[in-house]
Amino acid sequence: MPNPQTTFRNVSLPRSGPGMRTVWLVFLSTFTTAAVMGCVAVYSWYVEAQTQIAEVHPATLEWSAESVVRRLDQALDRAERLAATTNPASSDAALAARSSELLAASSLFSGLVFLDAEGNVRASDGRGIAYQQLLGILEPKHAIDSELFDVMEGVQLRRELAGVRSALMRLLSHGDDRAWVILSAPLPRTRSRAATTLHALLRSDVLADQLHLDLLAVGGLHLADKEGRIIALAGEVSPDGPLPSEALRAGAIPHLEVPWTTGIGWTVRSALPIGMLDLSITAEQPVLLAFTPMLIAASWILAAGAVLGAAFTLLASLLAMSSTRRLQVLFDGFRALAKDDFETRLPQEHVRGQIQHLYRGFNAAADHLAKVRGQALANVEVLSKQNLGFQKHHEHLSKLSITDGLTDLHNHRYFQDQLSKEIKRLTRTHEGLSILILDIDDFKKLNDTFGHAAGDEFLKQLARILTESVRATDLLARYGGEEFVVIATGTKLAGAQLLAEKLRTKIAETSFIVDESMRPQRVTVSIGVSEYVHSRTGLFTSADAALYRAKAAGKNCVMTAEPPESPESSA
Ligand code: GH3
Ligand code: MG
Ligand code: MG
Repeated sequence: MPNPQTTFRNVSLPRSGPGMRTVWLVFLSTFTTAAVMGCVAVYSWYVEAQTQIAEVHPATLEWSAESVVRRLDQALDRAERLAATTNPASSDAALAARSSELLAASSLFSGLVFLDAEGNVRASDGRGIAYQQLLGILEPKHAIDSELFDVMEGVQLRRELAGVRSALMRLLSHGDDRAWVILSAPLPRTRSRAATTLHALLRSDVLADQLHLDLLAVGGLHLADKEGRIIALAGEVSPDGPLPSEALRAGAIPHLEVPWTTGIGWTVRSALPIGMLDLSITAEQPVLLAFTPMLIAASWILAAGAVLGAAFTLLASLLAMSSTRRLQVLFDGFRALAKDDFETRLPQEHVRGQIQHLYRGFNAAADHLAKVRGQALANVEVLSKQNLGFQKHHEHLSKLSITDGLTDLHNHRYFQDQLSKEIKRLTRTHEGLSILILDIDDFKKLNDTFGHAAGDEFLKQLARILTESVRATDLLARYGGEEFVVIATGTKLAGAQLLAEKLRTKIAETSFIVDESMRPQRVTVSIGVSEYVHSRTGLFTSADAALYRAKAAGKNCVMTAEPPESPESSA
């Protein structure tokens, strides 16, 4: 299992956390809100724009249709009046002069033709406009007007036109895409003259100018016949031309198409029949124009959303960074604790709210830990002192357990233990091992004469003499009452006998001063010596026997055990 302290020391605060999640949440929520708001705004503007178009287009179409009808009526009146004020008895030359004069004064017509009853041209003017267009004097739109004369070259058409008996207008077409309005009226009848009619071609720019006036609310207007041939157009119009007449015939009046892909981009188109000459009028409007306010609003909302999103995200990032920094401080504090730095405290004065609580909690915990640690250290000191005392006590007890209380020599038990160890060692080294058993001679008498206390003092002094006389490697112990034993390691019987003799002599020559009031006393010892051969019991019985023999021989002497029988000699 990993050590939590080591693990904690090695880790650092992870970067991802509640702070970063908050930043992302703020970022996403702000942008989602802006996007949703933008969509709602776009949708409501779209609905609003559709409503506006549905209101503006029909109004424009009706208004425009009325003005076109008014203009056509006006032109027809004008043509009728011109015919009524022309003398049918005029010569062809006079008619030609009059047509030139009328055309020059008219802002409505671009060509005039007088036909007789059979459809022959009596006089005409208008070709000049084509020439002027060639010279660059007129706008190119007038070029089409000159085509009247090409049209009028059809004999069949001239006969039809010559048959009009009252003022009327009709459409003339030449090709598939254009048509013109021609206004016809009879001249006053005379007996002498055959019927003559006046035919005036309405200038196409008259209607186009009229349409221009109605362009306020829409982008473009088409005036077309039922086959879709254009009579006049104004404003920015798509190359697709007016709305298909099928749509109008289907009864969708005004017909509204939203949106419609054309050459000028997406457009909204609607149409209305005029009720005169089967004409219809088409209004159109580029979608961008119709929906500009909507797009502007959506752009503003999105831009505002982006700015607000960025600002809030920045704010959230700053907040997150600040709290991460404060958490880092806390984290560093824990790391310091993990490294046994119990002095670390966090600056709780500069923080507020939860962080302040956390810092305060940390400081309180650190205070407590420092206190507990101080107590623990003090306890450890006391315990170690106590332990030292125990150790000394134990050593003392151990020593006591192996020491004889009176003489300070090793006691009988210790002697037995050591002897066992030495016997074990001997089986490896074969260096020899002997024991000496000493018994004070007539000690009972000494006790009886001087008292037990004096006897004890004799024993102590004798122990000191023995201690001074044996080698450091020898082991001296009090065997019992007034008996002592020496283990002479590495010593055979002869050596042990020499040692015994040395001890005996030294004791015999020593004057014991037991009490100041007493004369110095002499004491003798008898010593039995034996060498270890094969048996521990044998070692003791032979030493005992030797001692017995020493006593029997008159005391104050050394006796050795019978020399052991070597395996060679027994064999
Ligand atoms: P022997 O020469 O035959 O050894 O005669 P002995 O008097 O020494 O005889 P024995 O060994 O039987 O007597 C031992 C005496 O030693 C008995 C006892 O009074 C005395 N003694 C044994 N231990 C102590 C002791 O610790 N202090 C004192 N003062 N006397 C002791
Ligand atoms: Mg004895
Ligand atoms: Mg004795």
